[in-house]
Amino acid sequence: MHRRIAILSALTMALTCGAAAKNAPTRVPLPPSNPLRSTENDKLQNSPANTLFAEKKLPSLGNAVAIGYYPRGCLQGGVELPITGPTWQVMRISRNRNWGHPDLVKFLERFAPLAAEATGWHGILIGDMAQPRGGPLPFGHKSHQIGLDVDLWFMPMPGRVLSQKERDNITASNLVAADGKNVDRKTWSSADVAFIRTAAEQPEVERVLVNAAIKKELCRTEASKDKSWMSKVRPWYGHADHIHVRLKCPADSPDCRAQPAVPAGDGCDKSLTHWFVDWILRLKIPEFSSSVKGLKLKDLPPACAAVLNAPANPGTTERSDVR
Ligand SMILES: [Zn+2]
Repeated sequence: MHRRIAILSALTMALTCGAAAKNAPTRVPLPPSNPLRSTENDKLQNSPANTLFAEKKLPSLGNAVAIGYYPRGCLQGGVELPITGPTWQVMRISRNRNWGHPDLVKFLERFAPLAAEATGWHGILIGDMAQPRGGPLPFGHKSHQIGLDVDLWFMPMPGRVLSQKERDNITASNLVAADGKNVDRKTWSSADVAFIRTAAEQPEVERVLVNAAIKKELCRTEASKDKSWMSKVRPWYGHADHIHVRLKCPADSPDCRAQPAVPAGDGCDKSLTHWFVDWILRLKIPEFSSSVKGLKLKDLPPACAAVLNAPANPGTTERSDVR
């Protein structure tokens, strides 16, 4: 039997090769390689990706596509969230990180009034989204690279438009006590529950990251209520003064890599108690880890080099408040 297969495949090979030889086009010599060009490209590929992407002040031309994984990717055709809306204001505007996949911008425009209604706040304060072309950030986060992550402050939006100086300097309220084990009763309120819940209930939201002490408080207060939304609320380091909302991969982005699904259940179990072990509480994992700092362009999906080098979308202009 094996012998028969071997003979057949040898025959097929011979026939295929013969056909190819017969139709082979006249050989055209390849142009000499440009040594300068390949050196330049090597240099680019080995450059720190966060510096390269931070230099791009405008989004790339092209359809909106989220490319890669939340902590390792980029964004083609990013769109800008206006820095002031009826129920939202973007903070830290000089960082130029109010860009995202259109799904994220649409989500925020829809979510802001819902959150305002649920909390009784004037609106929400929006922290970092992504850079105009996504990619690793020079400081502040490991993820936020593909235009589907956003930080939303626990602090309610005031009933007036904040100045640029205020947006750059006000600090968000911290809802976690100094020992990291409980929420801070002086700052925590039921509006914060409504805020987190409204975010987790949105169908396009993949997960909502909060400090473990906040998750613990939700487990306590929501114990006897409908908790179907709680599985999306995941404990993570930091996140004491903001929630991190992550959207699912959009349908138009086949190269967007989904995160493993959240486990079923409310998450008020052993996986939560683990966060309160002494050595974990003492561990201060900076959001910005060295693994991201070391990312080179070649470490990102190959399409990200094209995004980086693409012309800017001519319909966009640089804001004067960007530093
Ligand atoms: Zn974040």
